[in-house]
Amino acid sequence: LNPEEFRRQAHLVVDFLADYYSNIEKYPVCSQVEPGYLTKTMPESAPLQPEPIETILQDVHKHIIPGITHWQSPGFFGYFQSNGSTGNFLGEMLLTGFNTVGFNWLASPAATELEMVVMEWLLKLLQLPKSFSFCSDGGGVIHGSTCESFVCTLIAAREKKLNKFGTKRDDLGKFVVYCSDQTHFSLQKACQVVGINPDNVRSIETKKCMNFRLSNDALSSVIESDVRAGLIPLYACLTIGTTPTTAVDPLITLTDVAKRFDIWVHVDAAYAGSACICPEFRHFLDGIEGVNSFSFNPHKWFLTTLDCCCLWVRDRNDLTRGLSTNPELLKNKASDDKEVVDYKDWQIALSRRFRAMKLWMVIRTYGVTGLQDVIRKHVNLAKRFESLLVADNRFEVVVPRNFATVCFRIISPLALATRVSSDNGEDDSNRLTRTLLESLNGSGLVYMTHAVIDGIYVIRVAIGATLVEETHVNMLWDMVQEHVSDLLAKYVH
Ligand code: PLP
Repeated sequence: LNPEEFRRQAHLVVDFLADYYSNIEKYPVCSQVEPGYLTKTMPESAPLQPEPIETILQDVHKHIIPGITHWQSPGFFGYFQSNGSTGNFLGEMLLTGFNTVGFNWLASPAATELEMVVMEWLLKLLQLPKSFSFCSDGGGVIHGSTCESFVCTLIAAREKKLNKFGTKRDDLGKFVVYCSDQTHFSLQKACQVVGINPDNVRSIETKKCMNFRLSNDALSSVIESDVRAGLIPLYACLTIGTTPTTAVDPLITLTDVAKRFDIWVHVDAAYAGSACICPEFRHFLDGIEGVNSFSFNPHKWFLTTLDCCCLWVRDRNDLTRGLSTNPELLKNKASDDKEVVDYKDWQIALSRRFRAMKLWMVIRTYGVTGLQDVIRKHVNLAKRFESLLVADNRFEVVVPRNFATVCFRIISPLALATRVSSDNGEDDSNRLTRTLLESLNGSGLVYMTHAVIDGIYVIRVAIGATLVEETHVNMLWDMVQEHVSDLLAKYVH
């Protein structure tokens, strides 16, 4: 690596990205390429000789950008956003520049200690219980994804059950995991990885009348029936801000149920955790003191790019019991004396990125008030969009909005009035709503995704993209009105 050449080329890349952000609205939000488009264009073998950065960047522009779905575009309202910021980019450059592999403290003391500092800052910001702090028995770690946090906490729960409650390893097949039918599907994958019998993952039904929250009666009765059948309740995943509708499971009552059966409770706040840094949203975490672990993804709504999932545990020994290794190769005095945190024992892999650097940069460049302002801005935009829908009798907001995601559909009385026939068991409202989504996304100006809840097809509008402003939400609303009018006119006639 030649430092001067690095400087020159890095400036070109920064200029390239600055231009990308300036022009981002010119690109269709969702990529419109056909499958295989890139493999057809690229050479079949790697170049033998080095190529200049200028040529490579031209190819990025010509071949890569058309195949990108522009998550950073202000017209992106799909899934949950994955927003970013200048502070984050600079932090990412620094962490890549240092390229430390801080598997244990000695391998890069700053990487470990900055992670501990940032996790303690966030703990205070989210008003998590003191028991989750390094100052008591807990502590926080940055993982790459919520799925990884699920895997690690499932292992922690398993080892705790085996060690503290004297369960035998022969009984592993009897462990049961509880969640709701709204829980993110990555829990299922984590259970597969950990070896939970797939028949023992209970996806408990939620109802529209309960706003898709997990009910404690339903949870208790499923657990009781498992216990009667000789199974062993192990782990419950509760969600603050579910993926389909941002429903919030009631922590206080559900943790009471879990406590009765010595179940490990993990709280997944992947999306909505970020909002809880604002005092007005903190109540969604009431009851958090009764859980064993909690995670949220700054790589969704905290201006920090992938990958970054913050996990806290109430007892760090629970986590390290199942994940520790002590190879000769890594032995050193600080670790042997147990003076330090060795994060390799808090995660799956050995190697780890210096992710705390980018999170530290985000928090410092915004300050707490700046971060709260961003969350509030997105929530206010969502509130406004929701009120426009409510005032228009062609639409129904299907579940009350909790954060900055709005779920709506075309209401069925109108659908019935259009006399559209019901094919494939779908009702008219579902068909119209899905057609509306396809036509809006087909414009290339906006991109949204859908969910099906209790048989109802809804359009999800997740507001929080990096560059989104009021004008973009107004544009979305104008488009929704225009497209729905065209759509209904077509169906009526
Ligand atoms: N949990 C919730 C509530 C989510 O919305 C998502 C992703 O959208 C996940 C978990 C999965 O997160 P990750 O991709 O970090 O594993």
